[in-house]
Amino acid sequence: MIPITKPFMPRLEEYENYVRGIWQRQWLTNNGPLVNELELRLKQYLKVPHMLYVSNGTSALQIAIRALKLKGEIITTPFSFIATTSSILWEGWKPVFVDIDPNTFNIDPALIEAAITPETSAIIATHVFGNPCDIDAIQAIAQKHNLKVIYDASHCFGTKYKDKCVFQYGDISVTSFHATKLYHTIEGGAVFTMNADLLKEMAYMRNFGFNGPDDFACIGINGKNSEFHAAMGLVNLKYADELLQKRKSQFLHYAELLQGMNMQMQTIDKNADYNYAYFPIVLPSEDLLKKMEAYMIGNGIHPRRYFYPSLHTLRFVEKYECTNSQSIAPRVMCLPLHHDLSEEEMHMVVRILLRVQNNLR
Ligand SMILES: *Cc1c(COP(=O)(O)O)cnc(C)c1O
Repeated sequence: MIPITKPFMPRLEEYENYVRGIWQRQWLTNNGPLVNELELRLKQYLKVPHMLYVSNGTSALQIAIRALKLKGEIITTPFSFIATTSSILWEGWKPVFVDIDPNTFNIDPALIEAAITPETSAIIATHVFGNPCDIDAIQAIAQKHNLKVIYDASHCFGTKYKDKCVFQYGDISVTSFHATKLYHTIEGGAVFTMNADLLKEMAYMRNFGFNGPDDFACIGINGKNSEFHAAMGLVNLKYADELLQKRKSQFLHYAELLQGMNMQMQTIDKNADYNYAYFPIVLPSEDLLKKMEAYMIGNGIHPRRYFYPSLHTLRFVEKYECTNSQSIAPRVMCLPLHHDLSEEEMHMVVRILLRVQNNLR
């Protein structure tokens, strides 16, 4: 079986060492020493001034929306994981979908201004598959119209934009450390900002709004994470460079093997140091994709239709015209890619894709 992804597992003894410490301290959660250490080490590793470790990427989005006091209409992308849209709806606001660029798969900045109304409070954009958005263009629009910007950077561990960690951009960037991501803490996520006041606000929000034992600074939620999750993060961080390097060589190997394939690949932003987190391919038709998918599954290979469906087609959102997302979402799939995937397995994946493609010609 070749799964789409496999969570990275460190050696059990390394994790056990941290767990022994937790047993000794009997401090399991509530901003414990391992959570603090993880935040410190991640800030050093990523070279960012501020971050807060939270329970998951979705709560990071919700906390970011609250902390920036967003309201009304929020411009967002139809081509992302559902949490980007559902967290806007969960907070009670209206997602306004702006179509993507068909090459980068990110929100097309050239279409944003036409979607701005007096109700618009922000732009929430996803750096799709780890490929940064046109951050400069989005920043210019936000400044001109006085809008906040949140980046869903859940795919971006290790990605840089103009030589800086991509998490530094926007009013707030959020990420996910879910087990399926390149770097993970089992469950987990983070919020990043360059603004210390905003950080403080989010720190209150993460912990029910507590300001001392019996005072509340604001409306909060339980967005904390535990010592056990932080322990996994600390162990895995030792392997982060190795994981990133491996991903790059695997990605380049796939690209080489796939040269005879009639497909489109994502265009990576020229300002990016890309993390090679995913290997999405866009096929000429959904029909061909379905045939490939079925044949792969028949051979024990599990690709993933990611992202599908386009979020502007969800039954609980208003209807928008997003031609590019509508066209790409049904034809895109991510090939299996994880730290443990061998070259042999990659060959097998590609052989199967080419067999289906060539039979159909
Ligand atoms: C994984 C992911 C999320 C959600 O993160 P969780 O930690 O699973 O809550 C949000 N947005 C994108 C783009 C993701 O890939």
